[in-house]
Amino acid sequence: MEGHAGKILRINLSDGGIAKEEISEEMRTKFLGGRGFAAKILWDEVRDVEPLSEENKIIFSTGPLTGLPLPSSGKMVIASKSPLTGGYGDGNIGTMAALHLRRAGYDVLIVEGKSEAPCYIAIQDEEVRIIDAGDLWGRTTFESQDRLEAEHGKSIGVLTIGPAGENMVRFANIISQRGRAGGRPGMGAVMGSKNLKAVVVKGTGKIPAFDEQKLREMGKAGYEEIKGKENYDFWIRQGTLMVFEWCNENSCLPTYNFREGAFQFSKQLDGYALEKLKVDRKGCPLCNMQCGNIIKDVEGENTELDYENVGMLGPNLGMDDLAKVGVLNRMADEYGLDTISLGSCLGFLMEASEKGLIDARIKWGDLEGCKKVIEDIVKKRDLGEIIFEGVRKASERVGGESRSWAMHVKGLEVSAYNCHACPGMALSFGTSPIGAHHKDAWVISWEVSTDRFSYSKEKVEKVVELQRLRGGLFESMTTCRLPWIEVDFGIHWYPKFLQAATGKEMSQEELFDLGDRIYALIRSYWVRENRGWTREMDCPPVRWFEEPLSQGNLKGQRLDRARYDEMLSRYYEIRGWDENGIPLKQTLDGLGLGDVVGVLSKHG
Ligand code: SF4
Repeated sequence: MEGHAGKILRINLSDGGIAKEEISEEMRTKFLGGRGFAAKILWDEVRDVEPLSEENKIIFSTGPLTGLPLPSSGKMVIASKSPLTGGYGDGNIGTMAALHLRRAGYDVLIVEGKSEAPCYIAIQDEEVRIIDAGDLWGRTTFESQDRLEAEHGKSIGVLTIGPAGENMVRFANIISQRGRAGGRPGMGAVMGSKNLKAVVVKGTGKIPAFDEQKLREMGKAGYEEIKGKENYDFWIRQGTLMVFEWCNENSCLPTYNFREGAFQFSKQLDGYALEKLKVDRKGCPLCNMQCGNIIKDVEGENTELDYENVGMLGPNLGMDDLAKVGVLNRMADEYGLDTISLGSCLGFLMEASEKGLIDARIKWGDLEGCKKVIEDIVKKRDLGEIIFEGVRKASERVGGESRSWAMHVKGLEVSAYNCHACPGMALSFGTSPIGAHHKDAWVISWEVSTDRFSYSKEKVEKVVELQRLRGGLFESMTTCRLPWIEVDFGIHWYPKFLQAATGKEMSQEELFDLGDRIYALIRSYWVRENRGWTREMDCPPVRWFEEPLSQGNLKGQRLDRARYDEMLSRYYEIRGWDENGIPLKQTLDGLGLGDVVGVLSKHG
């Protein structure tokens, strides 16, 4: 298979070792790139380790489409054993660093070990340096970006952590280009645990591809098709925030720590409110439908909003003003905190305060209170001490009934969709391979527009189909799924892109197998790394089963536990996993993962 540089760059921060390794043909064919490579490397190399120890590794992984002149292809996957969940963790990020890594001649960067003192890695083609980061340590992600650009020039790719990552807050992420974020399940904390402040990459070579001419032609046609799509203009105006009003109308909006699904001040936060405040737009490299909408926040600073961060820092906290939400979002980006988990953590504390489970008072909609807690989280003091490891751990500390409304799956906080009346989306959260994230199967819009309240077999099949495409194909080739999802850019393009990039024609069956293989391997990783794995790990938060919505047109709705359980069993059946969600021997063998069988059998 062509289209890869075929090289891993491995850097050991403990001894300064730098190695360049070949990626085997088997690995390329079976795992393609991005998430596929990351999952395979973690399975092979990161076993039984404490996520914030020197033994953990962090993997920056591109795919065969990364950086090619194709729509929205400026993405990479960052993966590690997650300090938030204890299982497989990853996130994708749109960044110039992805392009530069490929141009420098590498598909994957693995960082292992731990530096004695703060450092950053600078890669320029063949040359790799580990540089003292004493001057950068303690600085925000924005300051770090500026300083690194001042040092290395503007045409570089930067991946950096902020003070949250340095202090190993478990939902610290990685930021690039002042606002591109990735690595929700604590990838920033893993960098911090290695004393690694940033990775700077500059590549000057050519990205390998099987048929460059064809790629250029298809890319041009693809960009044009996207621009001609019916809802392209609306997307450009509102980006992902166009879904806010729809969520509110359909009681899917995360409101007051997911207690409700609709918010009385939604009009002050939705896509139309955004349009009034918008001053600019930005996004990932190689994208012609950039979705980062910039507004001035109430403190007069620029901040980049999307649906997820507005949902979680707006209605979920009872915050009634987009410009206030903007302040919290900017602080999160500067400190390097995941906005979804942050919103969930703040909502959890507000509810705990309301119920008298903690001494401190923090009320719904309290901007100044939230700002103080964010500072405390970063410094792990006061309320930050309770919440810096996420809501799962916080509920163990706070006690009472808080476990029921700690909104997470497998330790990862739920992203911005309320599922009291969305069993399919609840299953998607339950079975997502990193914990409760929406990226693998955003089934909610299909679900609400079809047979919303059913727990049908078709719904389970739809979740699996989306996981195969979004979680398998898009995360591995590695490119943004939003052109397909949001403006209806034809899915038929992608096998053609892959063929031109790699020279290999892949049938739909092969592409689905790829997704299934990656899913089975990631699931095996969870089982291996979590003693006592049970199907309970695939269940959404208790609140959605036990506390019906108390307001709105869906008042009284909640999930049915027995029927959810039936869906889950069907899901396992389709995947070829046993009743506890563990891949069966014949499934693993059929996917070419025979080597996993022996390891898993030791875990019963
Ligand atoms: S659509 Fe948004 S997330 Fe996707 S590549 Fe473009 S800017 Fe990035």
